[in-house]
Amino acid sequence: MTEKIYDVIIIGGGPAGLAAGSYAGRSRMSTLIIEKEKIGGQIVITADIENYPGGVEGDSGPSLIDRMSAQAERFGAEKIYDTIVDMQLEGDVKKLIGNKGEYQAKSVILATGAFPRPIGCPGEKELVGKGVSYCATCDAAFFEDMVVYVVGGGDAAVEEAMYLTKFARQVTVIHRRDELRAAKSIQEKAFANPKLDFMWDSVVTELKGDGILESMIVKNVKTGEEREIFAPEEDGTFGVFVFIGFVPNSTLFEGKIDMENGYVLTDDDMKTNIPGVFAAGDVRKKSLRQVVTAAADGAIAATQAYHYVEGV
Ligand code: NAP
Repeated sequence: MTEKIYDVIIIGGGPAGLAAGSYAGRSRMSTLIIEKEKIGGQIVITADIENYPGGVEGDSGPSLIDRMSAQAERFGAEKIYDTIVDMQLEGDVKKLIGNKGEYQAKSVILATGAFPRPIGCPGEKELVGKGVSYCATCDAAFFEDMVVYVVGGGDAAVEEAMYLTKFARQVTVIHRRDELRAAKSIQEKAFANPKLDFMWDSVVTELKGDGILESMIVKNVKTGEEREIFAPEEDGTFGVFVFIGFVPNSTLFEGKIDMENGYVLTDDDMKTNIPGVFAAGDVRKKSLRQVVTAAADGAIAATQAYHYVEGV
């Protein structure tokens, strides 16, 4: 265990964690950001960032994250790659136990984000990367001139389906209801796209293939009818892109922090039920999960952590 007691440790290096890191570093707190895989969180798999205020046209997730990360570093935030596996959050000094070491801080900001929700049907896990994907930006190019299905009906599903039409020869959105949840403006563009089809009232119940996706069973939820859709013979495979929301990365906090449906509960100041422990970004219970709200949460959490640490 390092002897150092940081003023604040931030778990998670996505937009919430990086914004918290900038604000914490800038207020001269000793700051450590712990990230388990790679800095950036979900936004690094997004090609276009269109709605971040002040964003420039053509800005991508990775480039925005690079700038946020460099900014946090400039303000003195340290970064380390480790996976936190346990934590003791009560008391004046919080302890975080990682695979590589133990870390101590006066305050903690939980910014662990969320991950794409899987369909949960047989065959899905086995075929990830072999036809099944959760990231159009990452995998669209593998389906150049092929047939692709998109599961979901929200903003993400419809926007990513439109992106996929730039690569695939045909894209079909499979949605469990007969109307989309996506914003009207997004829907209008989608309905006008000649390469985009919709399969309503339908769910994928099984994905099949020996080492590569070859067919899937789709069930009509109104009639109960099930049918098997096969890959076109000339292609041998097809793509299934899943965009059905997100699951918070919060199993580590179970029994330690107040949560609802896996989301960490905070007040408007990002305070959890434990003094000195704050949460920011997609892992919080909130109504809008966007880069701008994640960054705002991070700024508030770091400012509140500063007041807390000053008072301890
Ligand atoms: P979402 O808005 O929660 O939509 C999830 C979609 O998946 C819904 O259509 C839902 O169907 C469907 N679904 C959920 N569970 C399912 C299951 N088990 N099987 C089949 N379908 C299922 O999620 P999202 O589209 O990922 O968006 C997440 C957030 O990011 C939203 O707040 C969204 O506005 C935001 N976002 C914004 C933009 C943008 O502003 N341009 C782009 C992407 C995302 P039902 O409709 O029947 O519930």
